[in-house]
Amino acid sequence: MIQASCHCGQVKFTLAAMPETVTSCNCSACSRFSALWAYFEPENIKFISAEKDTGKYCWGDKTIEFHHCKNCACITHYRPTAIGNQKRMAVNFRLVDSKLLDSVKIRYFDGADSWEFINQEPKL
Ligand SMILES: [Zn+2]
Repeated sequence: MIQASCHCGQVKFTLAAMPETVTSCNCSACSRFSALWAYFEPENIKFISAEKDTGKYCWGDKTIEFHHCKNCACITHYRPTAIGNQKRMAVNFRLVDSKLLDSVKIRYFDGADSWEFINQEPKL
C-alpha cells in the first residue's frame, strides 16, 4: 500500500499498488499544475480525508474535475464528472515519497496537440 499526502497533510490517500508509469501531460491545465498522473480505478484509491477539504476545477469538455487542497493548494487528484469515464481516476504521484516517484518511469503525453504519447521530454 502506498501513502500520499498534500504538503500540509489535510488531504491524504492510499493506493492499492504502484503504477507501472506516471504521465506528464503538456495540455494547458496539466502543464501549469506540473502534476505527474498515476491512473487507477476509483476503488483502488482510499481517501483518508474528506473531499470537502479539496477545491475543484473543471474546464473544456467537462469530463474530469481537478482537485486541490484548500489549505496548501497542492493538486491532489482528478476524478470523472457524471459524464466522464467512471472507471478512471488519477492521482498526482508527486504526493508520494520522492524515492517511490524516482523508481517509476515517466511517460510524456502531448495533450496540447496530437493527444499521443511522445518519446522524450518536450523542450520547455
Ligand atoms: Zn494541504
